[in-house]
This record gives sequence, C-alpha cells and structure tokens, in this order.
Amino acid sequence: MDCIFCKIVDGAIPAKKVYEDEKILAFYDISPAAPVHILVIPKEHIESVVDLRKENVEIVSYIFEKIRTIAKDFNLDESGFRVVTNCGDDAGQTVKHLHFHILGGRTMQWPPG
Ligand code: 5GP
Ligand code: ZN
Repeated sequence: MDCIFCKIVDGAIPAKKVYEDEKILAFYDISPAAPVHILVIPKEHIESVVDLRKENVEIVSYIFEKIRTIAKDFNLDESGFRVVTNCGDDAGQTVKHLHFHILGGRTMQWPPG
C-alpha cells in the first residue's frame, strides 16, 4: 500500500519516534507547525475518522490516553496544547492514514483558517 505512515510503521521510512507499542506510534511531524508537533497514529491503516467502525473505534480512546501522557512528558499539560485530526479534503488531510496532531509550545488562534 502506498501510505507514508504505514511505511513509517514498517520502518521503511525513518521517523523520530516519541512513543511506540504494539497498537500505536507517536513521532515528530517532519514539518512542525509549533515548537512541539507530534503525530499519534494507530498502526492499523484506518484512513480517517470517517472509516472508524464499532470494531476499531476503541483505538481512539487508547490514543487519547497516550496523548495525555505525551502532553505531560512534554510539559504541555499546564501551558495547554491542541489535538487536531483533519478529515478529508476540506480539512486539508494530506496523509490518508488516521492521525492526531499534538500541537503545543505557543499560543494559538481559534478558529483556525
Ligand atoms: P494532515 O495534513 O494530513 O493532517 O497532516 C499530515 C502531517 O504529516 C503533516 O503535518 C506533515 O508535515 C506530516 N508528514 C508528512 N509526511 C511525513 C513524513 O514522511 N514524516 C513525518 N514525520 N511527518 C510527515
Ligand atoms: Zn497507512
């Protein structure tokens, strides 16, 4: 499959890993949009939120549990941080493998552009 994030999971493309276990992987975004910019992905190829089903949706709560600990490890829990998942073309999803951006280390505007 021609998926960059599956290739990162397989080790075919290198990434600077922050956390890994049998179900998920967290790594630094190659083009950071904030002083801390980490991507958290399920190892299973799920295209986006739209493709979540009863059978695989529990991965999202698992990912959020890890987002909490990663945010703490990077001292973002007190300053604040943002979690984003872009879904589809209007949102600007460029990699069609479900991922959650953790963005922190600066103040941010809302709503985004
Ligand atoms: P999206 O726009 O789909 O929400 O986010 C995709 C993110 O993946 C972008 O922030 C982009 O910088 C990041 N990205 C794309 N290719 C690579 C890569 O090969 N390695 C890493 N670490 N990040 C990538
Ligand atoms: Zn994939």
